[in-house]
Amino acid sequence: MDQLPNCPKCNSEYTYEDGNLLVCPECAYEWTPGSESENGDELVVKDANGNILKDGDTVTVIKDLKVKGSSSPIKIGTKVKNIRLVDGDHNIDCKIDGFGAMSLKSEFVKKA
Ligand SMILES: [Zn+2]
Repeated sequence: MDQLPNCPKCNSEYTYEDGNLLVCPECAYEWTPGSESENGDELVVKDANGNILKDGDTVTVIKDLKVKGSSSPIKIGTKVKNIRLVDGDHNIDCKIDGFGAMSLKSEFVKKA
């Protein structure tokens, strides 16, 4: 159970611990174990133009978006206030007038 993971770069099994780091003696790669999965608060969400979005931002929808269970789409140009960033495929939680609570993909919005 105490076995260290192989080097993610060269897959060497001769990795060793150096403080908080893991070190590979074969390719000299150093990394922090578990850094790939956690860090939920380091969430970076970018809009369609590559601008970084923050909680509370206002964004504009850049294309008509179909809504499950609704006959009308969210129209291009719709303003969405007070977004909340979440982890996942649909990485923006928000409320849209006439639709209620929604999840959007950040690639379909831009910062207003
Ligand atoms: Zn290595």
